[in-house]
Amino acid sequence: MLPQFSYVRPETLKDTVKHLSAGGAAIHAGGTDLLGCLRDGIMDVDKVVSLSALHDLRGVKETADGGLIIGALTTITEVSENPMILKKYPCLAQGASEVASPQLRNQGTLGGNLCQKPRCWYYRGEFNCLRKGGDICYALGGEHQFHAIFGHDRICIITHPSDTAPPLAALAAKVRTMGPDGKRTLPVETFHVLPRKNPQVETVLKPGEVITYIELPRPAGNMRSSYRKVRARRSWDFALAGAAIALEMDGDRVIDGRVVLSGAAPVPWRAQSVENAIRGKTLDDATIKRAAQAVAEGADPLPENTYKLDLFKGVIEEELNAVR
Ligand SMILES: Cc1cc2nc3c(=O)[nH]c(=O)nc-3n(C[C@H](O)[C@H](O)[C@H](O)COP(=O)(O)OP(=O)(O)OC[C@H]3O[C@@H](n4cnc5c(N)ncnc54)[C@H](O)[C@@H]3O)c2cc1C
Ligand code: SF4
Repeated sequence: MLPQFSYVRPETLKDTVKHLSAGGAAIHAGGTDLLGCLRDGIMDVDKVVSLSALHDLRGVKETADGGLIIGALTTITEVSENPMILKKYPCLAQGASEVASPQLRNQGTLGGNLCQKPRCWYYRGEFNCLRKGGDICYALGGEHQFHAIFGHDRICIITHPSDTAPPLAALAAKVRTMGPDGKRTLPVETFHVLPRKNPQVETVLKPGEVITYIELPRPAGNMRSSYRKVRARRSWDFALAGAAIALEMDGDRVIDGRVVLSGAAPVPWRAQSVENAIRGKTLDDATIKRAAQAVAEGADPLPENTYKLDLFKGVIEEELNAVR
């Protein structure tokens, strides 16, 4: 059952921040994750602050220097179908089209997708685990076949759930925010928080701070990008293993680029070992094989999720073949 809370729908960002800064408040964008969290008792809130009257935060605009600005309230369906995103940043359109089901993509927003809570079954259940303020991680000694193999430090082994964050990080996108201390602009890559820094928060957002826009830089003319996600069920499911790849190419040679994994770590996980294996190289079969092997560097799989190493090797091999 949903707990009792008051509901406000401010018409300006200033009022939104004011309501949020009073404490005990949560943002409602599309509500597809928030309402489930409230029903499951994951969050304790007195007030729900709807962003739905902030019409300026919807839509996609081209910037003067050839980049894009996407409003935080733009739906995931719009992100997956926008012609400029499809043409210039295909990995983002592909990531958005892999989110949940059509109904959830129509209702869910890009800002909400970046801030959604983790899907660990202990966290979503009745366990007062470390992330909820308790003392231990139940998944470490329990069921962890879908959990992280990188970056968890055996503290909290969630996988970051968003399918849009890895492509945004691969594209060097930035998040713009507004809060009680004013505006900030941060790389998406630094927006999510590793358990070693704080196992009880998922993002660097401060109390009262709202994502307003996502900025995408102008892509290099010879940029090729792609997102691939492997999941247990075809209908809808979170990533078991996935990769967003954005490469600046000169013919079939990689000048530079980013590879960011999903279903891998508590944050979108930059696979620098793969980037190092392909930078400056021709994307031939031998390079692709070496890069696929390199993805396992630094992994710390647990007894039930070692299979993910092979999944990631396969995903990297397929993706590099797809962009060459
Ligand atoms: C059955 C199911 C399957 C799913 N499968 C996938 C999947 O495969 N891949 C995937 O990526 N996602 C998946 N999701 C998650 C879904 O994408 C999110 O629920 C959705 O993107 C959240 O968007 P929203 O606008 O509804 O956010 P809300 O539910 O409104 O908010 C989510 C969280 O973000 C905060 N928030 C929202 N907007 C902002 C903002 N502008 N600034 C700061 N904080 C904000 C809220 O306070 C809340 O904590 C699934 C969800 C469900 C229910
Ligand atoms: S993985 Fe994280 S969220 Fe899941 S039980 Fe462990 S501490 Fe809790």
